[in-house]
Amino acid sequence: MSQIRKPKLGQNFLVDDDARHRIAGSLGDLSTRTIVEIGPGHGAITEILATRCRRLIALELDRSLAAELTFRFRENPNVQVIETDVLKFDFASIAEEGETLDVIGNLPYYITSDILLHLFAAAPLLRRAALMMQREVADRVSAHPGVRDYGLLSASTQMYAQVDNLFTLPPAAFNPPPDVFSTVLRLSFAPRFTELGVDPIGFDRFLRKCFAQKRKTLHNNLRVAGYSPEALAQWPATIPPQARAEQLSLEQMSTLYGALLAFCG
Ligand code: SAM
Repeated sequence: MSQIRKPKLGQNFLVDDDARHRIAGSLGDLSTRTIVEIGPGHGAITEILATRCRRLIALELDRSLAAELTFRFRENPNVQVIETDVLKFDFASIAEEGETLDVIGNLPYYITSDILLHLFAAAPLLRRAALMMQREVADRVSAHPGVRDYGLLSASTQMYAQVDNLFTLPPAAFNPPPDVFSTVLRLSFAPRFTELGVDPIGFDRFLRKCFAQKRKTLHNNLRVAGYSPEALAQWPATIPPQARAEQLSLEQMSTLYGALLAFCG
C-alpha cells in the first residue's frame, strides 16, 4: 500500500486504530443501511464499514487510490468504489426507492464547507452523517447562538441538521500528521424550513446578509445590504434593535426574515 500523499487533495490518512473504529461506529447499527463514504483513501474506515453495512458507495477523487480500493474490495459485492469528485456526485443516482442514505468521511479539509453545502442540497435523501473536519471548523458548525464561534456556517448547518460534537483527535492520529486537531461531528438531518415558515433559497440569502460583517449590528448589516428605512421600520419588537446576528436564534432570525420579506424579497 503506497503512502504517497497528494497535499492538494487533503490526504492525511487515519492510522489510529481506535479512531477509525469510533468513526465507523458513530452512526450505530448499519446492517440495513446504504453508506456513502467521502474520500476513502487507503480504506482505513472503508474496511470496517464493508463488513457492517448493507451497501457501501465509496467516492474517491484520486485515480490511483480508487483503483487500489476497487481491487481490494473486488470480492465484496456490497462495496462500490466510484472515482469521482464528491462535489459533482448526485446522491439521487444511487438512492433506492424510498431509501435515505448515511454519509461517513474523514473529509479532505480543503473543501469542508463546499461538501457541507453539497450535503445540504441533498438533505431530503440523507438521514445522518459522521464527518471528520478541522477542529476549528467543527467548533463553528456546532456552535450555539451567543457564543464566539456562532456564525453563518453554524446557522446554515443547523437549518438542515441537528449537530452533535462526538470527539477530537490529535495530529498524531494521521499520517502524515496535519497541522491541526480534528473533530468528528454527527449531523442528523431534519430541515427546519417548513417548521420556521421560510423558503430555503430566500432564507439562505438573508442569512448571508445578516452575517456579512460580524462586528456590525444586524440592523446595520441589513441597511448596508439594501433594506430601506421603510423595511427596517417593520423590525419586530421581540428582537433587540442593537442585536448582532450571532446572538439570535434561528426562530428569531426567521421571524425577522418574515417581517422584512414583503419589502425586500
Ligand atoms: N478516509 C481515509 C482515511 O481516513 O485515512 C482518507 C481521508 S483523507 C483526509 C481525504 C481523502 O479524500 C483522500 O483520500 C483524498 O484523495 C480524497 N479526496 C480529496 N478531494 C476529494 C474530492 N473532491 N472528492 C472525493 N474524494 C476526495
